[in-house]
Amino acid sequence: MDKTLHIIGGGMAGSEAAWQAANMGVQVIIHEMRPKVETFAHRTGNLAEMVCSNSFRSDDDEQNAVGLLHWEMRAANGLIMQMAGRHRLPAGGALAVDRDQFSESVTNALHDHPNVTVEYGEITELPEHGHWIIATGPLTSQGLGAAISAETGADALAFFDAIAPIVYAESVDMNVAWLQSRYDKGETEEEQKAYLNCPMTKPQYEAFIDALLAADKTEFHEGETAGYFDGCLPIEVMAERGRETLRHGPMKPVGLTNTHAPENKAYAVVQLRRDNALGTLYNIVGFQTKMKYGAQTDVFRMIPGLQNASFARLGGIHRNTFLHSPTLLDDQMRLKSRPHIRFAGQITGVEGYVESSAMGLLAGRFAAAEILGKTLPTAPQDSAMGALIHHITGGAEAKTFQPMNVNFGLFRPVDGLKGGRRGRKDRYKAYTDRAKEAFSEWLADQS
Ligand SMILES: Cc1cc2nc3c(=O)[nH]c(=O)nc-3n(C[C@H](O)[C@H](O)[C@H](O)COP(=O)(O)OP(=O)(O)OC[C@H]3O[C@@H](n4cnc5c(N)ncnc54)[C@H](O)[C@@H]3O)c2cc1C
Repeated sequence: MDKTLHIIGGGMAGSEAAWQAANMGVQVIIHEMRPKVETFAHRTGNLAEMVCSNSFRSDDDEQNAVGLLHWEMRAANGLIMQMAGRHRLPAGGALAVDRDQFSESVTNALHDHPNVTVEYGEITELPEHGHWIIATGPLTSQGLGAAISAETGADALAFFDAIAPIVYAESVDMNVAWLQSRYDKGETEEEQKAYLNCPMTKPQYEAFIDALLAADKTEFHEGETAGYFDGCLPIEVMAERGRETLRHGPMKPVGLTNTHAPENKAYAVVQLRRDNALGTLYNIVGFQTKMKYGAQTDVFRMIPGLQNASFARLGGIHRNTFLHSPTLLDDQMRLKSRPHIRFAGQITGVEGYVESSAMGLLAGRFAAAEILGKTLPTAPQDSAMGALIHHITGGAEAKTFQPMNVNFGLFRPVDGLKGGRRGRKDRYKAYTDRAKEAFSEWLADQS
């Protein structure tokens, strides 16, 4: 069998995957459609172009999960972090870069690598054989998107995300909220108590609707058509259709009894549903939104029980092509139905430059190891890369899977540490210490 690794898409993930595999001695061909075929967001023909912000977010590897991913990528000799460091701009604790110099350096480093070839042109079919990684990102071209849909089933490839905000379970005030599924549905007690419920009185509901209507919203980018309107309306659009719409939709109070005050019938109820197997994260059901991030925290903290909520991620709706990874991919990022094809980057259901590059790093190493006849275990679950890959390929609630940023809610708890806000600093340090150790061991086993 041909031992070349083909990578479709030379964005964040494809570039990092190519670098990793090439450094392991594997011949790599990157197939990149730009500049021949453009997207609405990219401006250049460079590899690893940053389509919007010029920031890789927090660089704090002791107290921040994104910073920890930076640390792991640096430890693994990652190209994206190397070039980000070279073109860094002053930005406080964040890792911001000169975007043009950054992507030019990534492009040059790959063009100059003796094991890498870049071929410019769009790929529109799924390859029948060979070793492949598909890293075509949120703006995967239409032709390839159709080919992936035909293989996976139309329901398993989404073209928009509709992200409801995700809250850390420990930050919900359980003196106000209670656990109950609507009409106590479910066979087991766990199922009958699967939701967190936050009750509202009429004045609280009215104030909430006023805040929603007044909040700052983001607009779709030009070319990013608003085809989201089928079945996943933003909550503010529902509120615009009538002040009672939400009370008859995601905030309906029926089938629920407040265990703290059974005699008081709530006027509206906001429900949160468990988002991961660990039970550390809950999403606010039906609360996808185009509100700006600052407005979201203000508005959502008006919900009784969420007054001190910490958010693992805020809501959004974007043009985004992504797979239903929990059912389609194995823990080596192979498509179960065609294991010679791996996926990497945002199309696997992670979100952000950093997360996408990290998934590229793993896919590149997994694919190269396979070509070299070696077995590489998946990244350890206690590392940031491992927590993320574990989430998308198994830990996430499959029924409601939506793209995910890296955050400490994806990490297994460290025993014996204090919960709540007070213990947060020690907890995060313990997570990052444990992650660094696990990741270093995983790397050392490969050398
Ligand atoms: C409008 C918009 C704004 C965003 N803003 C941010 C932000 O501010 N911060 C952030 O962290 N993330 C942002 N993202 C998410 C961001 O796109 C990803 O985090 C990151 O770029 C994903 O990396 P990737 O390698 O998976 O995809 P990309 O970086 O998009 O790379 C995919 C590559 O595949 C190529 N390609 C697509 N189809 C084909 C094909 N059929 N054949 C060959 N090549 C193909 C594309 O040209 C592209 O170069 C934004 C996304 C969008 C759409």
